[in-house]
Amino acid sequence: MLIVEQQSAVRHEIAKWKAAGEIIAFVPTMGNLHNGHLSLIDLAKTSGADRIVVSIFINPLQFDNREDFVHYPRTIPDDLNALREHGDVDLVFVPEANDLYPNGLQSLTEVRIPSLENDLCGKYRPGHFKGVCTIVTKLLNIVMPHKLVLGQKDYQQLLIVKQMLMDLNFDTEVLSGETIRDYDHLALSSRNRYLSRDERARANLLYRSLQHIRDRFSEAQTEDLLEQARQDLDTNGFRTEYIEVRDADTLEPPGQNTSLYVVLAAAYLGKARLIDNLVFPKA
Ligand code: AMP
Repeated sequence: MLIVEQQSAVRHEIAKWKAAGEIIAFVPTMGNLHNGHLSLIDLAKTSGADRIVVSIFINPLQFDNREDFVHYPRTIPDDLNALREHGDVDLVFVPEANDLYPNGLQSLTEVRIPSLENDLCGKYRPGHFKGVCTIVTKLLNIVMPHKLVLGQKDYQQLLIVKQMLMDLNFDTEVLSGETIRDYDHLALSSRNRYLSRDERARANLLYRSLQHIRDRFSEAQTEDLLEQARQDLDTNGFRTEYIEVRDADTLEPPGQNTSLYVVLAAAYLGKARLIDNLVFPKA
């Protein structure tokens, strides 16, 4: 497993692999790796990739909140050990911000996708998806993978990146991995470590609320179900940002053509901002 800090060194390795006709899959992360991240490596492997590249970079451009950026867990030695132990990873790209943003973050060319970036998470995290689209574009231009592997846990991000790749004619296939959950169904997340013991014991109410809505969903009762879930979360110590049912293909409010729904939520519990979603078909 090669560990590389310079983008020039990544390009050098990738060029050799491509010359040999190998299929390259890329798993971008912000580190503090858990089984959710590792499942994406497995997905890359089973998809037939010959080479797997993982990046670890806490992208300052996508943090709307400086505190969150400063305190985001930085655990590179543990992450590298986890990747080594897991196996199947050929190269880990661990860039320095200076290498990716040599002129800083001001006056930077940015990539944005106006139709989806101010909705749901974008509404509460201004500039977040612009930061995501910009870094994903930059990383893709360095790694130039055949396959980009993303998690469904960040459902809006997944749809936005897919849309961006289509709009900008990237020749990259997107693979999406299902959400990996803890013993009580709480979605694994690097931010779960901010939960106190007491908060952790209650945290799966977010998942249970989504499950409740999915299992009882009828379009006529959507608002009642959502309002009840919001109240339930907020009386149990959550600060709900949103909980919504949308068309799973477009993220628009469901309409006559909707065949697949997604219920998505974001809520703070203590210092941790938790997000989760469940996709379900029309009954
Ligand atoms: P992050 O390090 O949080 O930026 O996440 C890197 C990638 O891992 C993204 O594509 C996420 O959607 C994915 N991911 C994060 N948590 C999970 C999870 N619990 N299950 C599956 N994929 C995940």
